[in-house]
Amino acid sequence: MKMRFCPLCATPLVVRELDGRPRQTCPACGFINYENPVIAAGCLIEQEGQVLMVQRRYPPRVGEWTLPAGFVEWDESPEEAALRETEEETGLRVVLQGLFGVYNWRHAFGGGHNDNGVLIIYRAAIVEGTLRAGDDAQAVAWFPPDRLPERIAFSSHRAALAQWLAQREAAPLSG
Ligand SMILES: [Zn+2]
Repeated sequence: MKMRFCPLCATPLVVRELDGRPRQTCPACGFINYENPVIAAGCLIEQEGQVLMVQRRYPPRVGEWTLPAGFVEWDESPEEAALRETEEETGLRVVLQGLFGVYNWRHAFGGGHNDNGVLIIYRAAIVEGTLRAGDDAQAVAWFPPDRLPERIAFSSHRAALAQWLAQREAAPLSG
């Protein structure tokens, strides 16, 4: 994310060549604005051949569907974020069963917050709880592979679901 002023001392930042690329730096205190991808994490929960999805309540992509997922907070691991987001959005406590996949998204213009990110999806199974849409969801629902919602938000979630469909086709007897 581009910044105008140093977040530590409020001096206007200047661009300098560091590590072979232009980076915004503070001429007063030496702060360097490293621009790194944001990390999101979530769960692929499959039950009786169906996948659990969440319908978004808030922008962007209101009304579109995703896997339960969200951004990792600075004091969380991706695993903790996946568990927290799943419980917040679906009301379900789950146990992680290993990595399902890692997906990158990049928006064309770059340089803005969330313009480059990594989505980590874990396989998960329900431990307890009652399915209900959380505060930031309009609805939660199970979808069979041949009737996924038409409007799936975000290329990273579409990639994860495409992988799920492909793996099911490759192993049709796995349930
Ligand atoms: Zn500074």
